[in-house]
Amino acid sequence: MIDIQKIRADFPILRQKVYGKPLAYLDNGATTQKPQTVIDTLMRMYSRQNANIHRGVHYLSEQATEAYESARRTLRDFLNAALSQEIIFTAGATAGINTVAFSYGERFVGAGDEIIVSVMEHHSNIVPWQMMCNRKNARLKVIPITAGGELIMDEYRKLLSPKTRLVAITHVSNTLGTINPVKEIIRLAHDAGAHVLIDGAQSVQHIPIDVQEMDCDFFVFSGHKLYGPTGIGVLYGRRELLEELPPCQGGGDMVDCVRFEQTTYNELPFKFEAGTANYIDAVGLESAVNYIRAIGIENIAAYEHELMNYTREELRKIDGIRLFGTAENRVGTFSFLLEGVHPYDTGMILDKMGIAVRTGTHCTQPLMQHYGVEGMVRASMALYNTREETDLLCDGIRKTGRMFFSRPA
Ligand code: PLP
Repeated sequence: MIDIQKIRADFPILRQKVYGKPLAYLDNGATTQKPQTVIDTLMRMYSRQNANIHRGVHYLSEQATEAYESARRTLRDFLNAALSQEIIFTAGATAGINTVAFSYGERFVGAGDEIIVSVMEHHSNIVPWQMMCNRKNARLKVIPITAGGELIMDEYRKLLSPKTRLVAITHVSNTLGTINPVKEIIRLAHDAGAHVLIDGAQSVQHIPIDVQEMDCDFFVFSGHKLYGPTGIGVLYGRRELLEELPPCQGGGDMVDCVRFEQTTYNELPFKFEAGTANYIDAVGLESAVNYIRAIGIENIAAYEHELMNYTREELRKIDGIRLFGTAENRVGTFSFLLEGVHPYDTGMILDKMGIAVRTGTHCTQPLMQHYGVEGMVRASMALYNTREETDLLCDGIRKTGRMFFSRPA
């Protein structure tokens, strides 16, 4: 069970007022707020444990190195990866996808090969593949979605062929909230001889992840959407596959022996961690993961599911609202438009009421094209949100509607 008041007290930023109103932070899909324990960890690292890792024999360097490698073990356990070497620290989901797009492309993709993505992908899970396809003369194929925002699995089956090298799919849509059937997607891809990257940027904070059970080849996410620091994320990859990929960046730490004639590379995971790693934020991310594990990701999922159901019902009651994404299997991310009101106007008016929502294309322009709209408003929930905030949001949307048209309350 979740003690919501205790949880809210852990997040200092939630105590503040904006424009004299209590803050209702509903932009968690963009980034989440940080509990005090994460802030304290960063303070502790900078004030007591800072020295470059993997380099010195001195006390502080050993302390920082151990803290960094401990973070890797914690992340391995969190994702249930088989090995610590399969956990590569990156700058975030985008960096992880770009790493795979480059290294995998170099090793496995040639002219005429195909990569599959879907209409609902974030730009970060489209553009790196496009860039790779351009380099390799490969083709990008796109799984269509239903009007309700679910992948059309029959169309996916048709796209798979011996030419398919890799399928890159978001676990949870950052715009629609849809939870995709990743196990089925992975099984079908593997049957067709293709590898799969799962973009977990919008799933790790909401539902339990087990990369072995899921059987994905790669899984990426960003720490800042998981109550951790910015500038840190994880790329999980199956060891046998990572061993085969060339590194995508050269520099310190990723090398074994450097000669002008030829350089040999370090072992996993360091082969993919060129330069000074972001060890401070990795330890901050470990602290966020420990925070989540202490509450229990299953408890978080159950609490958020209940809040999602409540919010969906309340939003549906609003006159003139158009909700995008009607999948049953979903998280509490709701994109909508208020009839006749520009999404920026809705966002700005809600902001003045202390309600933080996202407006625009949510980095999913092809999805906006699919729905024939320029942008949407998005309210996205996290573990510290409450029914009271949902009520504020719904009242705010109604008031916005009344400001533009005189609708009944
Ligand atoms: N993938 C999805 C589904 C996202 O929602 C986001 C960010 O919103 C990203 C990838 C990119 O994450 P980041 O900007 O932290 O690298």
